[in-house]
Amino acid sequence: MTLKAQPKASHFIDGEYVEDTEGAVFQSIYPATGEVVATLHAATPAIVERAVASAKTAQKEWAAMSPTARGRILRRAADIIRERNRALSELETLDTGKPIQETIVADSTSGADAFEFFGGIAPSALNGDYIPLGGDFAYTKRVPLGVCVGIGAWNYPQQIACWKAAPALVAGNAMVFKPSENTPLGALKIAEILIEAGLPKGVFNVIQGDRDTGPLLVNHPDVAKVSLTGSVPTGRKVAAAAAGHLKHVTMELGGKSPLIVFDDADIESAVGGAMLGNFYSSGQVCSNGTRVFVQRGAKQRFLENLKSRTDAMVIGDPMEEATQIGPLVSKAQQQKVLAYIEKGKAEGATLITGGGIPNHVAGQGAYVQPTVFADVTDGMTIAREEIFGPVMCVLDFDDEDEVIARANATEFGLAGGVFTADINRAHRVVDQLEAGTLWINTYNICPVEMPFGGSKQSGFGRENSATALNHYSELKTVYVATGKVEAPY
Ligand code: NAD
Repeated sequence: MTLKAQPKASHFIDGEYVEDTEGAVFQSIYPATGEVVATLHAATPAIVERAVASAKTAQKEWAAMSPTARGRILRRAADIIRERNRALSELETLDTGKPIQETIVADSTSGADAFEFFGGIAPSALNGDYIPLGGDFAYTKRVPLGVCVGIGAWNYPQQIACWKAAPALVAGNAMVFKPSENTPLGALKIAEILIEAGLPKGVFNVIQGDRDTGPLLVNHPDVAKVSLTGSVPTGRKVAAAAAGHLKHVTMELGGKSPLIVFDDADIESAVGGAMLGNFYSSGQVCSNGTRVFVQRGAKQRFLENLKSRTDAMVIGDPMEEATQIGPLVSKAQQQKVLAYIEKGKAEGATLITGGGIPNHVAGQGAYVQPTVFADVTDGMTIAREEIFGPVMCVLDFDDEDEVIARANATEFGLAGGVFTADINRAHRVVDQLEAGTLWINTYNICPVEMPFGGSKQSGFGRENSATALNHYSELKTVYVATGKVEAPY
């Protein structure tokens, strides 16, 4: 297959591709080989103005349509995405380097799920309340916010674009979406497909750029809301800028989530969950359970099973169906992850497997071996900071109260999980874990029906489920008098 995926132009505004060659040039690199896939321009202030103006105009017409009509367009887009899943998945693999084995089932299809789900609930999920007041009455309406900005991370470019667009659009907003500068391509295709499905021009726009472009959108006076998927440091900056204008925000940020394995757990399943929660997408998943607490009685069985299954993972060309581990998104990310691995070794963790660049792909791309450290202690750097790579930390524990306290001793609160055969204990533990999304006897499954998001420094607001509509709309309350006004003067 060709490694070229040059879009017609860098941006998609008002229903068409738009270029402004004044914008800084940047390249989309295929992380498996370092080849240039496309060359683009970052948005200039003129492009930002054009995108926001287009969204502002289009939003009025869009909001005036019935929710059923809006939903129908999104459901049509879901069907088109599914028909083109192969091509979209290959593009996602070029954008991110993630194995086709994953992108074919987890990326554009999960975007389609969001369009299908929100399109489906649109006719009934935006109703208000009738409030009887003894003759008089009040009613509430759920109204859109206006122009919403979506800013994406690079790990799930198409999914993130769809997860933000679907609830925003169904609620009657327009969106300007800025993908990560590392993965600029997928969102443009989503914009094209939405137009094909019948979306009015300007309701969903995509502009390119990096940390210099984002603030132009966040600070724009015509933008009502910002939804960011990114790291905690970026979240702090974006939330602070939005607060200056009292804008609505949703923050989907990073984590260092605990996955707790009690010694009565099904070890085969627990290892499978831990591997999915550390090595899927080469570990570049925000909700990963990167602190794996294993009860001492299960430690040996857990590590033996984990090592043999990790050593058997297929690392290689992401376009090969058999490949299970592709490269990281960039050489910069590879170097960052390798530096964390060196810190783990230097601070005294026991390297069980991995720990470097796989020999057979050395020099080819941004690869890192799936890596397991055991005997990790709470104070080690690799146990405290988000690595965002295929590095699993296994920590020992003895009892329930101890592990809950240690699991919660972090500024993050995105996710967590517990593996145990004791269902009472499972509920007791998740009840006490300080995180927004939790799993019992599985890990990292995020169907669109289920709210997803973090607490503490991992963010606020929720994506997916009908709840997400509350974050893209606000209540308008109307009091209706049925008699004369009784005034004391
Ligand atoms: P990042 O924070 O570096 O960048 C995220 C996005 O923000 C990019 O599009 C970037 O251009 C933009 N940006 C950077 N500075 C900005 C600013 N000052 N104003 C406006 N926009 C700005 O994150 P990343 O490296 O692309 O992604 C990895 C991070 O994302 C990890 O921390 C990961 O945990 C997190 N993440 C969270 C979720 C979630 O749902 N909670 C999902 C995926 C990734």
